[in-house]
Amino acid sequence: MTEHYLDNAATTKPCEAAVKKAVECLTECYGNPSSLHRAGLRAQQAMNRSRAVIAKALGADEREIIFTSCATESTNMALLSTVAAYGRKRRKIITSAVEHASVNQTLEHLERIEGFEIVKIKPDDTGTYHAEDFINAADENTCLITMMMVNNETGHVLPVQSVFTSIKRRYPHIITHCDAVQAFMKYPIKAKSLCADFISISGHKIHAPKGIGALYARKGVKLRTFIHGGKQESGRRGGTESVPLIAAFGSAVEELIPTIASRFEYVSGLNKSLREKLSSLPYVRILSPENGSPYVLSVIIPKIRSEIMLHYLEGRNVYVSSGSACSKGAGSGVPEIFGASQQEADSVIRISLCHENNIEDIEALVSGIESGMKEIMHR
Ligand code: PLP
Repeated sequence: MTEHYLDNAATTKPCEAAVKKAVECLTECYGNPSSLHRAGLRAQQAMNRSRAVIAKALGADEREIIFTSCATESTNMALLSTVAAYGRKRRKIITSAVEHASVNQTLEHLERIEGFEIVKIKPDDTGTYHAEDFINAADENTCLITMMMVNNETGHVLPVQSVFTSIKRRYPHIITHCDAVQAFMKYPIKAKSLCADFISISGHKIHAPKGIGALYARKGVKLRTFIHGGKQESGRRGGTESVPLIAAFGSAVEELIPTIASRFEYVSGLNKSLREKLSSLPYVRILSPENGSPYVLSVIIPKIRSEIMLHYLEGRNVYVSSGSACSKGAGSGVPEIFGASQQEADSVIRISLCHENNIEDIEALVSGIESGMKEIMHR
């Protein structure tokens, strides 16, 4: 039976080019990139190519890209580096109230252990974020502003560019970090026009393997080393590099870059069909905004707990998620912030699309939800 994978915000299937490149590195470029012989050089070249591709995608210099093990490591590196370098006198950090755990938990640590003041900006009653709310919260005492570009649970798009641009104009000392994990390769992102000092991205959300991420760190911004050891990543992260994963990351980016606009259009069409079909089901409420990322659609199916519906759909080979994959079922509070009641928040399912999905996936999902609503209610 065909599987309908609609959980692409949790992770994606690696693309053929990425798999091929990883295998090629495992079998042919297996040298240590720090070795001085030809086998080492081949591995070094595979890594350099990937760095160049990712740098170009972000409009950055190759030296501004640091490979990490995942975006969680990238966000930790950005946030902890900033407070180490700039946070001794400036003790305030501004963020949104809907960040992913990798940012949220790091900030909670900084609040609890190091006494930083964390200001979490909420959207208005319609779930819309306004740039002024972030800008007005900033002051001389602020060392960092960190914002996601696309929310991983609902697809809401945050006004990162206008916030960062204004912040840099008024308070050039404030460091800006963008968690672009759910936006990279879905929207064109250029570090300079975004006015970002740091950008975190992840391989496995863009059809590269798991275990690889990257941090863009603007030339001149201070970075702290957390993994001490060899001189890898220009002395910024010790440890032998995972050449197969790094090279595969570059191959995935290379493949996706030319199709950002066409994939966006295609996925927007699927999203539209999905919305239309869902709107014919009674009581179902769509939490994601029309102007959000088309790749994520959060839906409330009243009176049916998310996990129950998730497993019902799983029984029909349809895979969705009950909110953020990282919260493993524990409520993140994000649906409530975007307007769901407490009760509704227990009934959210997240459908997340990619260019490999098709209308059959959408039909299988909607008919699964429809029959699930009837069957589960009558149990
Ligand atoms: N930020 C966002 C918005 C995410 O959706 C995720 C993963 O779900 C992360 C950060 C963490 O990425 P990784 O799994 O590469 O650590």
